[in-house]
Amino acid sequence: MEILVINAGSSSLKYQLINVETGGVLAKGLAERIGMDGSNINHSWTKDGNECQKSITVELPDHTVAFNVISNLLVDGETGVIPKREDIKAIGHRVVHGGEHYTQTQIVTSEVKKAIEELIPLAPLHNPANLTGINAAEKAFPNAIQVVVFDTAFHHTIPEKAFRYAIPEQFYREDRIRAYGFHGTSHKYVYEQASKYLNKNDLKAITIHLGNGASMCAINEKGQSVETSMGFGPLAGLIMGTRSGDIDPSIIFHMAEEMNMSLEDIKNILNKQSGMLGIAGSNDARDVSKLYHDGDKHAILCYEMYTHRIKKYIGAYTAILNGVDTIIFTAGIGENDALTRQLSCRDLLALGIILDEAANTSKNHPKQPVEIQAENSRVKILVVPTNEELEIALQTWEVVK
Ligand code: AMP
Repeated sequence: MEILVINAGSSSLKYQLINVETGGVLAKGLAERIGMDGSNINHSWTKDGNECQKSITVELPDHTVAFNVISNLLVDGETGVIPKREDIKAIGHRVVHGGEHYTQTQIVTSEVKKAIEELIPLAPLHNPANLTGINAAEKAFPNAIQVVVFDTAFHHTIPEKAFRYAIPEQFYREDRIRAYGFHGTSHKYVYEQASKYLNKNDLKAITIHLGNGASMCAINEKGQSVETSMGFGPLAGLIMGTRSGDIDPSIIFHMAEEMNMSLEDIKNILNKQSGMLGIAGSNDARDVSKLYHDGDKHAILCYEMYTHRIKKYIGAYTAILNGVDTIIFTAGIGENDALTRQLSCRDLLALGIILDEAANTSKNHPKQPVEIQAENSRVKILVVPTNEELEIALQTWEVVK
């Protein structure tokens, strides 16, 4: 059974056609600049074991047209991987915000779409684009079952003492202000991979997703998220590529009142110009680690700050979980940057976390879960490649099969 997985942005469509029995990706691609000049699709597919790729420049006035072009690519004699578009029986959509009530994967109904729309004030950048993607997919694939997988859903088990902010209750009851958490699909996927790999189904884990966005999650022995570092929005917690992570909120008042900055400017600074970019001048860990090794003092400070914040959360989550069996690094930086893992695990002997430095370096970029702890480490340290698309395909399959 093939499932088409969709991650829709306001002017883009990322797609993967996945065979859920094998977990294999038959084709994938990205349509960009939808509704703008110069729109194009980068499509890649596997034929007879070979990776093939094609870039096409094509007018894409809206997402429905983009879906039609993509579905033609999927069945085309040259670029196609399936005989006809009706073979796609289900489409899994990534939706960022499911709010408090959508705690599970859902088959799309008008009620579900209404809920995604009502949640737009909580995810103004993402939910409208996700909804556009669903509506367009319904038109282009009228016979397929549409399913939504929410980024927030995995965190629905976080207890109230952890998700509430200490502000007057009305803001929670009436305005839905609470911590929701994000990257749920990735945290869940790598936890389950680790638990399979270690053959342990009562694993207490701290998952550390370090990509462009970054978050950590404390997962208890029942496999439930009980704490996560992102909160009401995706700005809280860890230092990220361009986002500040945790800051004292009084900085915002100071910037507005004493420095006469507009809210829009402050938002832009904290979301787009902070994090690694703000400290070291690049939001790509590959550049910053090169500068670190060249002795650049900004890059060195950036790595120290970045990994100090991770350590702070490792300590906090070890306490929340009353001890931890494994910590799991994942996503672009977590899987590929040995330096981040090395500095994040340094001097954690008191928590029983000891890295094997040689394994950390040699087992970079793994395709499967790998262990990188020292022999005398009480806590296992794993690098687990995340695969959010596969997790969305599997969850979609679960509800349609
Ligand atoms: P993601 O959001 O998971 O795709 O992660 C993207 C980020 O991963 C990039 O911005 C880089 O900072 C980082 N990254 C990707 N590959 C590497 C690598 N080989 N070494 C260090 N960082 C990497």
